[in-house]
Amino acid sequence: MINPEQLETLSPFDTSQLLIEVAKINHHTQAVVNAGRGNPNWLQISTRAAFARLLTFALDVAQAQGDFGMVVAGDLTVQWQNFQTVAATDQFLAACFQYCETTLGLSRSNVLLDFVNGILGDFYPEPNRCLESVESILAAYITKISRATELPDLTIFPTEGGSAAIGYLFQALKENFLLKSGDKIALSTPIFTPYLEIPELNDFEFIELNLQASETTEYEVTLEQIKQLCNPEIKAFFLINPSNPGCRPLSAAVLQALATVVAQRPDLILITDDVYAAFSESYQSVLQVAPQNTLFVYSFSKLYGATGWRLGLIATAKANVFDRLIHELPQEQRTRLAERYGLIAIEPEKFPFIDRIVADSRFVAMHHTAGLSTPQQIQMALFALGTLTDTTQTYVQNARTLIHHRYQLFYEALGVAMPPISDQTFYYTLVDIYQLAEQKYTCDFADYLRQTTDTIQFEFNLAKEEDVVVMNGPGFDAPVGTIRISLANLPDTDYCYIGQKISELLAKYHARFLESCI
Ligand SMILES: *Cc1c(COP(=O)(O)O)cnc(C)c1O
Repeated sequence: MINPEQLETLSPFDTSQLLIEVAKINHHTQAVVNAGRGNPNWLQISTRAAFARLLTFALDVAQAQGDFGMVVAGDLTVQWQNFQTVAATDQFLAACFQYCETTLGLSRSNVLLDFVNGILGDFYPEPNRCLESVESILAAYITKISRATELPDLTIFPTEGGSAAIGYLFQALKENFLLKSGDKIALSTPIFTPYLEIPELNDFEFIELNLQASETTEYEVTLEQIKQLCNPEIKAFFLINPSNPGCRPLSAAVLQALATVVAQRPDLILITDDVYAAFSESYQSVLQVAPQNTLFVYSFSKLYGATGWRLGLIATAKANVFDRLIHELPQEQRTRLAERYGLIAIEPEKFPFIDRIVADSRFVAMHHTAGLSTPQQIQMALFALGTLTDTTQTYVQNARTLIHHRYQLFYEALGVAMPPISDQTFYYTLVDIYQLAEQKYTCDFADYLRQTTDTIQFEFNLAKEEDVVVMNGPGFDAPVGTIRISLANLPDTDYCYIGQKISELLAKYHARFLESCI
């Protein structure tokens, strides 16, 4: 039998996995309700249908070339026109090709050819970092979701989800001596756990400085905290914008403060993970205020319900500080890097950082087989085109409305007012059980709860007695007492249930408190 103490040192994701076991063992009549994970319970269908349709077209074209005729070349636009019908999927694809031609200035026939060959997946990705037309589409997508009228020219490396993007970045920063063991890095916390955990692993051993946001700052990093980045000992700043689990986008004031810091600290490395960008109405990207210093991470998992596809990316401005910093390394390190990348580049000193990330993702020696699978790149481009051609932003609005509705249902059932923060993604919510005890009962009860029950114990009992699994807030460096509820992964009615069950568990604790007072 699992006991709560065993869970204290585990990552919240693994804790919640075990809490599911706890709930299953004890579960009564109800199925286990797991509000732990951020995996969305919606699916973007029309762009997947476009993928299927394109695949059918590509197979037709390939078959027409005869047996083994896998090289597809030439202009396929006439064949495509003959293939096209008036069905919605074909209309969407037509709009995509139109957009690529008129807005992005790409040749329609090149895009079609890239898509056909890419979707057939019979060649290694070439160029290995990113297919050319896909890169233009993704750059336009990043500009659109960043709400930027214009961003500097971007280079993009599509990856196996945001997770691979994060891993590849840590790896390449270390290999290129941009971050060394013992270096100090700042993290805007609470934060998605890998950012807390990776630096502590033996391979990295960076020293973390957590700039912790809390309820009192409404989970916003403060201007004072941003000023700490002026300390030249801090080599890099990792943040999630809008944050997870705090759900707050960076405010204009914070972005401005960051720009001021970067003006003083032109060597500061900013790693910003913006997978929730589209869920916030006021989101603006760090890429806008500090483009040269920014390593931008994105994932298609959340907005498009595409966690199984594994689609993410790393983007940097073509003109960036990383290439300069590598150039300015001490001679000994430059020599080592020249040897490392000399395997694959004639002038390794000039080999850009973004391409080093690609090379390092395959241990340099497998650079020729690096890159995201081409069918994945095409699905990613189609997701992006879905949003680029959706002039009314209907899909994004619907996703926002859905989770906001669940947020309301949850707080109604919990029996307390919604936190007064409107500028957030609503993808998750953090509930502080001690504050809840105070809001619903008394300060004395809240003190009793603090002294007798830690966060894990509460979560454990929630699983064991109420069949509800949530995520451990302190594991994200959120304040003690917070639990994270994902508003993205369950049917609406489950959020009423979860709110009720948390209330009921708290009522049981309260009854015990009253007994203890006698
Ligand atoms: C979910 C999440 C990821 C992981 O993205 P995948 O594409 O599913 O690997 C990365 N960063 C943050 C902040 C996330 O919440």
